Amino acid sequence: MLAPRASPSLALVNSFRVWADIDLDALAHNLARIGQLAGPAVRRILVVKADAYGHGAVAIAHHAVRCGVDALGVSTSSEALELRDSGVRAPILILGTVLEQELSDCLQNQVQIGLHSMDRLRRLERMARHSGGPVRVHLKIDTGMGRLGVLPERALELLRAVRNSRRLVLGGVMTHMAAADGARADSTRAQLERFESVLAPARREGLLAGWVHCANSACLFTGMPDLYDAVRPGISAYGVLPPELPGAAELAPVLALRAQIVYLKDIGVGAPVGYDGTWVAHRRTRVATLPLGYNDGLPWRLSNAGWALVRGRRVPLIGRVSMDYATLDVTDVRGVRVGDVATLIGRDGDEQIRVQEIARAVGTIPYEVTCSVGKRVRRIYRGAPSLSAEPAARAGQAAAPIPSARHLSESAFEPML
Ligand SMILES: *Cc1c(COP(=O)(O)O)cnc(C)c1O
Repeated sequence: MLAPRASPSLALVNSFRVWADIDLDALAHNLARIGQLAGPAVRRILVVKADAYGHGAVAIAHHAVRCGVDALGVSTSSEALELRDSGVRAPILILGTVLEQELSDCLQNQVQIGLHSMDRLRRLERMARHSGGPVRVHLKIDTGMGRLGVLPERALELLRAVRNSRRLVLGGVMTHMAAADGARADSTRAQLERFESVLAPARREGLLAGWVHCANSACLFTGMPDLYDAVRPGISAYGVLPPELPGAAELAPVLALRAQIVYLKDIGVGAPVGYDGTWVAHRRTRVATLPLGYNDGLPWRLSNAGWALVRGRRVPLIGRVSMDYATLDVTDVRGVRVGDVATLIGRDGDEQIRVQEIARAVGTIPYEVTCSVGKRVRRIYRGAPSLSAEPAARAGQAAAPIPSARHLSESAFEPML
């Protein structure tokens, strides 16, 4: 039997090798903070692409809708359909591109898609003839990202074509900002000018409908003066902001990555640990083996350079992080046992390892850290948003029924919510 020996808050789960605690109360808190910044008139499109940045899109989406989020943003049609299959009825917008072969599934499931060419518009019109209902599109304008989206000089023409179409409905007009530091960047100001160069004449011609939106987390948290009709936060809802942005302290991290110690052993001076023997004991050392590695989201670059929390103490990762295992020096942790919880991201007692700290240590951005949490890692959902908070009704949508959070945490995670 593995007895839980971690601090009380961490003693709940020890039947998994490695797991991610996903704190839904933290999600609710961050969404409320985003709502304060955006103001009551501005809609919130929560971005849940890439499996909600590694947090698990289905559960995140259901709880976000309960918290009053107006719509969900995804990257691909399969992400959109996964949400529909799980019972999400809120509006879903595919922020990226949709392949021809995927269009009909999107239309059938009332998934809103980006529009960035006249060819696509004609094609959608033909398809809408068969699918019945109108097709809702968001015109995507490239104001400086240089990736997807129609250039500003072609945008009005498309807007007129949508207005003249009997089968297409304009759900919104959007652009995406390239600068990591949001409203503070000169490039953002330049992008907004280009955006306005389309919006102003479109307003005069009465071509606008739906929501105009452009602000990601960086724009929102650096006080972009005009947020238009909706914001599209992603990373901030998960309680993470890139370190150069203000406001991280008001957010609560949603994800914690944990594993249990599966093996303990004492090794003598001179004994190597891990591939290539990059770490050698300089004293008699108690080594803890953890059953997680870079496949699970612990970056290889943390080899000999990272930390974990065990019994509320920071202990160093020693040796190389391998695909399935990592090793800790727990010599100084009193009473350490097999079955103890090791926290790789998150809090244990007074100590905390933030996503930003790991990103800095390995030279990447925080997004990559949470997105890398692997498939083998069980997501365990804890807490629940308050139902009395601003209901989902604002978007005219009933929230899909979901089981209580208690049920979710007991059953770990059932994909069919
Ligand atoms: C990912 C994404 C966002 C969210 O960005 P964050 O920096 O995570 O807030 C918003 N809009 C678009 C188009 C995106 O692709």
